[in-house]
Amino acid sequence: MARRGAKNSTGIARLENLQAHDAWAGFVCVRCGMLNTVRIGQKLLAPDDALESCRWSCGKCGFEHGKDSALPDWDNWPGEATAAGSAPAMRFWQGFFRIHTENPSSYWKQCNTCGRVLPFQAFSRHAGWGPLERQMECRSCKGAINAVLNPLRTKEQMQESASRRRVSELLLKGENERMDFADLFKRFGGKCFKTGQKLDIHARETWELDHILPSTWLYPMTKANACLLSKEANQNKKAAWPSHFYTNNELIELARITGADLSLLASREPVVNPEIDVDACVTRYLKVREGGNLQKRVKELRDLLDSRGLSAGLSAANKRLLGHA
Ligand SMILES: [Zn+2]
Ligand SMILES: [Zn+2]
Repeated sequence: MARRGAKNSTGIARLENLQAHDAWAGFVCVRCGMLNTVRIGQKLLAPDDALESCRWSCGKCGFEHGKDSALPDWDNWPGEATAAGSAPAMRFWQGFFRIHTENPSSYWKQCNTCGRVLPFQAFSRHAGWGPLERQMECRSCKGAINAVLNPLRTKEQMQESASRRRVSELLLKGENERMDFADLFKRFGGKCFKTGQKLDIHARETWELDHILPSTWLYPMTKANACLLSKEANQNKKAAWPSHFYTNNELIELARITGADLSLLASREPVVNPEIDVDACVTRYLKVREGGNLQKRVKELRDLLDSRGLSAGLSAANKRLLGHA
């Protein structure tokens, strides 16, 4: 996933000056039951060292949690078991520090987006990040960020849109222009247009061509309709209409680079390509030799054309082929 800087496309900002990789301990006060968190830092504690050195004070009642403290006067405990330095009390503190320090998953961490200090499990894994190897945002915030970047869609919607992309790409075969990648890189300054990440033209698996105006609205790939994106950014864009993915400033810049029609890019609702010769596309599509079920292909094509309001304009012959009366 693309790293977001202070200025990002989600509008959800990171908190500044927050040590997001630090480990914390979360503990419940043995006297008052208050949940406390204490910052540990970049180096995790060994349980025995924690027992020797830690004195954690409760933020509410001030009770000091450490091996030299007596336990509170619990009614169901005999007095001698709670006395400071007694064997039961020592064992209690040993277990207390083991609970909070034994495994990385015992620790807590601060979310750099909502600022809450939360248990280990509230963060998804990120190899190599800090002693806990967790993401900087908690899973709640990550969900909110992803919802902005990649609107939540049902599995059916995903399948439907994947099939539409495939059908429309077949429909547009023959309309697409051959791309000059060197020229594309030059025009976009060798960077992902969305994230600004530097891209390597030779590392073909790291970048993609965005169909700015999506193929599912029957826009072929042309020089004016191609945008250079990192693979991650294009995964978020997919078949989104440009104004649903790019900011207004980005749309203006994009039109400047590509020479595309800004009013079309900025239109709030998608518009079917008015220039496309749908009949020629359909005729070509039906001729494409593609393995698989012809009946299914015809149905997918009919669904796409119906959903875009294009069936009525077809020639009588193509209407018949697609089963329209
Ligand atoms: Zn307390
Ligand atoms: Zn959060």
